[in-house]
Amino acid sequence: MGLLSLGTPLPWNEAKKHADHVRTHGITQFLHTWDRLKDRSGDELLWGDEIEYLVVSFDDKEKNAKLSLRQTEILAKLNEIVDGICHDCPANVSEVPQFHPEYGRYMLESTPGSPYTGSINDLLSVESNMRYRRSLARKHLKPNEIPLTFTSFPRLGAPGQFTEPYFDPKDAVSSHSLFLPEEITNPHARFPTLTANIRSRRGSKVAINLPIFVDEKTPRPFIDPTIPWDRAIYPEDHEARDGAALPDHIYLDAMGFGMGCCCLQLTFQACNVSEARRMYDGLIPIGPILLALSAASPLWRGYIADVDCRWNVIAGSVDCRTPEERGLEPLKNDRFRIPKSRYDSVDLYLSEDWVNRPEYNDTYVPYDEAIYDRLRNHGIDPLLSKHVAHLFIRDPIVIFSENLDQDDSTNSDHFENLQSTNWQTLRFKPPPPNSPIGWRVEFRSMEVQITDFENAAFAVFVVLLSRAILKFNLNFYLPISKVDENMARAQQRDAVGQGRFYFRKDVYPPGSGTASSGSCSPTSVFNSETGKKEKKLRNCFDPPVLPQNGFLNGHSVEDEYEEMSLNEIFNGKTGGFPGLLSFIQEYLDTLDIEPEALAKIEQYMDLVRRRSNGSLMTAATWMRNFVRSHPDYKGDSVVSQEINYDLLIAIDEIERGVRKEPGLLPEYYTGGNKDQGSIDGL
Ligand code: ADP
Ligand code: MG
Ligand code: MG
Ligand code: MG
Ligand code: MG
Ligand code: MG
Repeated sequence: MGLLSLGTPLPWNEAKKHADHVRTHGITQFLHTWDRLKDRSGDELLWGDEIEYLVVSFDDKEKNAKLSLRQTEILAKLNEIVDGICHDCPANVSEVPQFHPEYGRYMLESTPGSPYTGSINDLLSVESNMRYRRSLARKHLKPNEIPLTFTSFPRLGAPGQFTEPYFDPKDAVSSHSLFLPEEITNPHARFPTLTANIRSRRGSKVAINLPIFVDEKTPRPFIDPTIPWDRAIYPEDHEARDGAALPDHIYLDAMGFGMGCCCLQLTFQACNVSEARRMYDGLIPIGPILLALSAASPLWRGYIADVDCRWNVIAGSVDCRTPEERGLEPLKNDRFRIPKSRYDSVDLYLSEDWVNRPEYNDTYVPYDEAIYDRLRNHGIDPLLSKHVAHLFIRDPIVIFSENLDQDDSTNSDHFENLQSTNWQTLRFKPPPPNSPIGWRVEFRSMEVQITDFENAAFAVFVVLLSRAILKFNLNFYLPISKVDENMARAQQRDAVGQGRFYFRKDVYPPGSGTASSGSCSPTSVFNSETGKKEKKLRNCFDPPVLPQNGFLNGHSVEDEYEEMSLNEIFNGKTGGFPGLLSFIQEYLDTLDIEPEALAKIEQYMDLVRRRSNGSLMTAATWMRNFVRSHPDYKGDSVVSQEINYDLLIAIDEIERGVRKEPGLLPEYYTGGNKDQGSIDGL
């Protein structure tokens, strides 16, 4: 999450009075940043991951796996340890990981102590860095607590005890949830306020309905017996019975169901602002593809769902739009009809390169015209102005009264207030004031994987793909409406095996292949290279050159893409699209990498290859199978307390390499606990 200011958060009816103040000063702050740093260039590649964990407390007698609500204590302990390490080894501060709070009081987030560089050594240290962080956390929990990189807790909000200690959902004063107690939320004022103000602004509780996975004995229609339909504590309690909870669905009614999920995010520093915009655009169509491949969340509130991913849950869980904004009522008090939640896929491509045809931004994107004009009048180009003016249609949800007045030339809190609560698949991050950090792009769609081998594999895949995009000027543009459609498809059950995704057929720049025919020619890309191999992952590449021969955009956008399976997108198809992995192979060929290092990278790519061609299962498929073949499973879509316990035990055993799951992980995965010896002194 973004920064945690201390102070007095305003309730919604107060906060909304200051919305324009925050927006106006937020834009002023952005303009200061822009003026200072728009011409900054030459930043090297720095990048980092964020990994989120659920802390699970195992009760072996009761056979119950619960969420441990000790985040505050655990973080205090970990930060003390980390400070201790820092004290002992000032020479290499980058070894010292960081732990951060998250929305759920049972969650942790970790990041490397300082970002990785473009060196091949750093690329190879990602996995051990992740393992080190995991083992550090693990080592400082109670003996029966384990930090699991697990996307959604299967029995969050189910009947019985799912937190340690137990709390009653009756006390959910912020969310008014029927299922989640107040205490699952991080107690820092920001989080309960965010929860309550989203509900107040929206005018009702959030309402998410996931289709239930219909198994042999699932009652039809499925009317959820675990919903307290007749509860009468909070004013919204009637919503479930008045239509918010749909039959044949798993109904979720609180921010915690989404923001309480774990994910894997990556942030890359670009050479300059235009390269950041190019990378942002290049990765937009990749967002849904990697969501599908990383699918890891088929179990919700004690049931098996018919979806594999968290995305729609988290989008719905912070959907603060009013009925007017959602298009349910004519616009009267609100300014815009807004098609999406503030947590959703990207709405606009950003690059000013000629390859970004205006037709790709093909959806209705409301934006604040006064803000747009202000940015334009300041000299900012139309695309970036529209991007910012679109983010700024939202209201700031949490405002601290102490923070209203800021020095806009040295502060970016008001800008960040809006920026960091627009949670899209990609985030374009301007440099923070008073820091050496440059223009960055964050890749945010992936679900966290069970092991750090997998997390590292996905991280390395994305960083290499980002280099291939920039180096070869790969053109992945696809209308945003099709990217949105892909987001929906990515979450469907077994999207890897059965899904078809829109993807661009010919991605090489004109001149390097026969651009219009769709037959790509990788070798011609190499002919244009100077020959020498690079020693590290570079930043700062040449932008695409407008072709001399008049080739421009003669053909229609509809001819540029087709539907492909994930196997085809990653591994290519004969005589057609060469596959994302082939671009990475080409890119690796331009690097001077030792054979041993290359073999490690090859393993990561092998995981991606095998997941995408179906020879290894996604975590989602594996979990669904685990539940359905459990002796306690009744064929009724229910994930019982005992199944949940056994599943999470199995997840830990898989991570440690104690339990072999050859259908899920490659045979050479031997477990993540090997590095634990190295921290024995801590
Ligand atoms: P967020 O605001 O998304 O929660 P975090 O601070 O938690 O961001 O994590 C950001 C990630 O960016 C970390 O992995 C960190 O190592 C990495 N990072 C830090 N500095 C840079 C930089 N200059 N360029 C790229 N990545 C960076
Ligand atoms: Mg986080
Ligand atoms: Mg973070
Ligand atoms: Mg977060
Ligand atoms: Mg942060
Ligand atoms: Mg992040």
